[in-house]
Amino acid sequence: MWSEQLPRMLVNSYNCSEHPTKKANRISVWSVSFFALIISLITVNTLQAAESVKSVRFWQAPDSTRIVFDLSGPVSHQAFLLVNPTRLVVDISNSNIGINLDKVDANSSLIKKVRSSKPPKSGVSRVVFELNQSVSVNSFVLKPYQQYGDRLVVDLTNKNSQSQKVESYSINKKLSTNRNVIIAVDAGHGGEDPGALGPKGTLEKHVTLAIAKKLVSKINAMRGYEAFLTRTGDYFLKLRKRTGIARTKKADLFVSVHADGFHSPKPRGASVWVLSESGSKSEIGRWLLQSEKSSELLGGVEAVSLQGKDKDVTKILLDLSMDYSIGASFDIAADIHRKLYKVVPKMHKKFVEQEAFAVLKNPDIPSVLVEAAFISNPKEEKLLKSAKYQSTLAKAIGDGIKQYFTKNPPEGSYLALLADNKPIRYVVRRGDTLSDIATRHNTTISAIKKANKMRSNVVRLGATLLIPRA
Ligand SMILES: [Zn+2]
Repeated sequence: MWSEQLPRMLVNSYNCSEHPTKKANRISVWSVSFFALIISLITVNTLQAAESVKSVRFWQAPDSTRIVFDLSGPVSHQAFLLVNPTRLVVDISNSNIGINLDKVDANSSLIKKVRSSKPPKSGVSRVVFELNQSVSVNSFVLKPYQQYGDRLVVDLTNKNSQSQKVESYSINKKLSTNRNVIIAVDAGHGGEDPGALGPKGTLEKHVTLAIAKKLVSKINAMRGYEAFLTRTGDYFLKLRKRTGIARTKKADLFVSVHADGFHSPKPRGASVWVLSESGSKSEIGRWLLQSEKSSELLGGVEAVSLQGKDKDVTKILLDLSMDYSIGASFDIAADIHRKLYKVVPKMHKKFVEQEAFAVLKNPDIPSVLVEAAFISNPKEEKLLKSAKYQSTLAKAIGDGIKQYFTKNPPEGSYLALLADNKPIRYVVRRGDTLSDIATRHNTTISAIKKANKMRSNVVRLGATLLIPRA
């Protein structure tokens, strides 16, 4: 067994409270009288009342793994890496491990094995993760929030992540003259953040991923399009990371899929949202805004600095909105809304809704948020779970996207090429001859006759002719 006694690389440490040992030492200096001795004993007792590690959970993402320790109370900790062999050591002060670590299955491509190790001093729990490759580490604690108690979070990120692949991808896109229209499909929530909860216990994060996956395959089956998921499994992604992925992959559109939750079971219906500077402040909108905030509080690094600071929440949402193009977003949302309207039992509102998630300053990716239905409504919860209904929703959203981009093909895209090749429609005016029309459009009489299946050279006033492009 190799030793974990000498941390060679101290990566991160976080102290959420003053170390109890220091308190004990300070008090023992003046423990000369009987009275002081009693105080000292009390302090020692406090030290022994350690927090316990109740469970360890893992969330596997493509390039990273999040380790979450569920704790009985707040702790201070240190997380560092050791090499030969590569391993992560987590020291949790004033704690004991309430579970059998040998039975913990990390189910992660980065982690080989979890075990305990000899602590550097008494009262410290040392947990060792044997790793498959070199990683970078970020660790922080989270205060109790909603269903969670105190947590210690350690994020491991694969050092050879996919950033290089992305670069060559975007270069290809630039050179291309018939590139695909690229759609980022974002499944709301994930990992530590379950999203809204249905009365039968359905979690929004599972429903959104199922619909998002179906939407991606619908879009990929459409000629001239390609789609990808921002989150491919059950793990937490910060809002900024989601839009960041879309930006790196040069997405033409960012579609976030959610399912509404409300504090009463009554509201129902699908809705389509664009993030806007100003907009109607509906109650549902405020609720939605709150749930985004809640999402970051449940799983985000920002959670540490966010609690009780509304300004900072706004800043995150503001950052998110930098990527949003209001005009295009609104048009796409309207096309999706129209398609959904035909297939869902009810739309929550007649029109696309807008909410001040953020101020839209320098938009570069049109973005739309679809609330598939109300998971808090028993009937809609059932619908959301059904694979058939998920497909219906995905198809409607895909059709809406198609409708928009057929009308507005991005420059250099296959769709733009297709639009360019379409014949011009020309309405015959008084005095026109077929020869005039052909000359004006830089084509021949026979080409026009062929395109319109004409037998003679006579053109009728007011008739529409298809003029092939030269
Ligand atoms: Zn949501």
